[in-house]
Amino acid sequence: MSRYDVLIAGGGNAALCAAIAATKGGASVCIIEAAPKDWRGGNTRHTRNCRIAHNESNGILTGPYPVDEFWDDLQRVTKGHTDEELALLTLEKSAELWDFLSDNGVHFQPSLGGTLSLGRTNAFFLGGGRSMLNALYITAEDMGVTIHYDTCISALEIENDFFTAAEATHNWQTDTPQKDRIEARSFVAAAGGFEANIEWLKEAWGPAAENFLIRGTPYNTGGVLRLLLDAGVQRVGEPDQCHAVAVDGRAPKFDGGIVTRLDCVPFGIVLNAQGQRFYDEGEDFWPKRYAIWGRLVAAQPEQIGHVLIDAKSFDLFMPSVFPPEKADTLEDLAAKIGLDPATTRASVNAFNAACIPGDFDHTIHDECHTVGLDPPKSHWARPLDTPPYYAYTLRPGITFTYMGVRVNRDARMVMTDGKASPNLFAAGEIMAGNILGQGYLAGIGMTIGSVFGRIAGEQAAKAVQN
Ligand SMILES: Cc1cc2nc3c(=O)[nH]c(=O)nc-3n(C[C@H](O)[C@H](O)[C@H](O)COP(=O)(O)OP(=O)(O)OC[C@H]3O[C@@H](n4cnc5c(N)ncnc54)[C@H](O)[C@@H]3O)c2cc1C
Repeated sequence: MSRYDVLIAGGGNAALCAAIAATKGGASVCIIEAAPKDWRGGNTRHTRNCRIAHNESNGILTGPYPVDEFWDDLQRVTKGHTDEELALLTLEKSAELWDFLSDNGVHFQPSLGGTLSLGRTNAFFLGGGRSMLNALYITAEDMGVTIHYDTCISALEIENDFFTAAEATHNWQTDTPQKDRIEARSFVAAAGGFEANIEWLKEAWGPAAENFLIRGTPYNTGGVLRLLLDAGVQRVGEPDQCHAVAVDGRAPKFDGGIVTRLDCVPFGIVLNAQGQRFYDEGEDFWPKRYAIWGRLVAAQPEQIGHVLIDAKSFDLFMPSVFPPEKADTLEDLAAKIGLDPATTRASVNAFNAACIPGDFDHTIHDECHTVGLDPPKSHWARPLDTPPYYAYTLRPGITFTYMGVRVNRDARMVMTDGKASPNLFAAGEIMAGNILGQGYLAGIGMTIGSVFGRIAGEQAAKAVQN
C-alpha cells in the first residue's frame, strides 16, 4: 500500500501536464501508466502539433490566430455540438500553452511542408510527439513524480462521489500480476478513450468494428472510463463519435500512426468491395476531406475501399509507406486486389466517359469534373487510361473516441446527479467529448489534453489542501 496526494491514471500528454501542474501546486504525485516504459505515452507519441490561439506571430507560428477565429473554426467542425463554456475556456487557455510547454522542456519547429498547411495555427513539436513526451517525462521525474509502468488501474474506490483509493495491478500483462492499493487525496483520470477496445466499439458500430484499424496505442481500452461511469460519473458524448480517417488497409491493427495515411484519393476513383464508386473523390482538397473518409469506408461492405489511379497521377501525392499494387491492365489490377475484373472495368469505363476535358490543376478547384455520373467527381477528374495502373486499399483508421466523462471548468467530474465530485478530475481524450461532440480540428486533441491536464493538476493539488 502506498499513499500520495494526487494519483494520475495514464501516461500521455494529459497525464504529464496534470502531474507537472499538481507538483507545482505542492502535491506529491504518482503516475500509473499501463504501457511498458518503451511504449509509454499512448496516442500522444504519434502527434505532431498542438493548436494554439495567439495574437501575433512568434517567429514559428506565422501569424495571428485569435480566440475568435479558433472559436469559429471549432463551431464549424462541431456544428455547435460543444459545451460553449468549456470550449471557450480551452481556446482562451490554449494561449498559455506555448510558454507552459516550452518552460517544461518542449521545443517547437516551423511547420513542415506537406498536405496540411497549419503553420499559422498549430505549433509543431521538434522531434514529434515522442520527443515532446520525453521532455515532459524528464521534467516530471526531475520534480519527483513517481511513475509506475506496466501498471494498470484496475479498480477505483469511490464513495459518495469521493475518491479514496485505486487498485493498481503491476505487471498486469504477465502471468504474475501484483495488486497494489494506492491511496490518494485526489484522482486524475487521463487514461485516454476506448478506441482500442474492439468489443466496446462493436457496441456502437456493430460487427463492422472488427475491420477497423486503430491508429494509436493498444492500451487505450477504456478501462478507467468504464470504472468511472459505473461509479456514477456522468457520461458525455455519443459512443460512435470519434476521429476516423481512411488509412492504408495494410496498416497494423494498432499503432500504425501517421505514416499509414494515404493522400491519393483525389487523383483517382475509389471502388468498394463490389467494384462500385460510392462518394465524390474530388469534393474538396484532401486536407479538408480526409477525415470524412474513415466513416465513408466504414459504411461500405466489408469496410474496405480501393483507390485506383493511373501513371499520370503517381507522382502527385506523398509516397505511401507500403508500395501499391501495380498492373498494366485494369483487369489484372482488379484481380490482384480481389475485385471482379469485369465490374471494375465497367466502373472505370463509366467514369472515363463522364470526365469533361479541361485543364487539370491539383492545386486549385480545377474544371476537370464529371457529367451525368452518380456520385459525381467534382474536381481533378481525369480518365484512368494510362498504364501502369495502381491500387491502394483503404480501411477505417480510428484515431480516438469522444465519449467520456462530463467535467466542469475545474476539470472536476460531474456525477449523474449533477453535482461535481470533490476530488475526481479528468483530462485529455477521456473528457474530449465535452468539447468535441462531433467533428475535429487538427491539433485540438493536444490542446484539450494540455489545457485540461494543467487545470486538473492545479485543482487536484488544491483539493488536497481542503
Ligand atoms: C496517429 C495519431 C496522430 C495524432 N496526431 C495528433 C496531432 O498532431 N495533434 C493533436 O492534437 N492530436 C493528435 N492526435 C490525437 C492525440 O493523440 C490525442 O488527442 C492526445 O494524445 C490525447 O492525450 P491523452 O493524454 O488524453 O491520451 P494518450 O496520450 O493516449 O494517453 C493515455 C494513456 O493512458 C494509459 N492507460 C490507458 N488505460 C489505462 C489504465 N487502465 N491504467 C493506466 N493507464 C492507462 C495509456 O497507456 C496511455 O499512456 C493523434 C492521434 C493519433 C492516433
